[in-house]
Amino acid sequence: MNPNEIYDFFTNLDLEANKKPVSQNLVESLPDTQVTNLAQTQRQGAASSDNKEENKCLVCMCEYEEGDMVKTLPCFHKYHKECIAEWFKRQNFCPFCRSEVK
Ligand SMILES: [Zn+2]
Ligand SMILES: [Zn+2]
Repeated sequence: MNPNEIYDFFTNLDLEANKKPVSQNLVESLPDTQVTNLAQTQRQGAASSDNKEENKCLVCMCEYEEGDMVKTLPCFHKYHKECIAEWFKRQNFCPFCRSEVK
């Protein structure tokens, strides 16, 4: 190995070590809820615009729509099931408060 190869070796090793995906089983075990009371949620949102963030998935920045499947993390933050599943393939923390999911 020349010095450049050794450097590459450790750089690659580092990247692998920093990747902490959450296991599929753990993601599956988080509770799912289906958005059904959208009218109610919107009324609450209109009453207090401070709550608006809670009606939005912070991975894709889209507001929830009726029928969407939403996962609740142990920190009580909510995300689209598909969005958070993708996120957890790369990271093991909540995208909003960064608390670890394990
Ligand atoms: Zn989303
Ligand atoms: Zn959180």
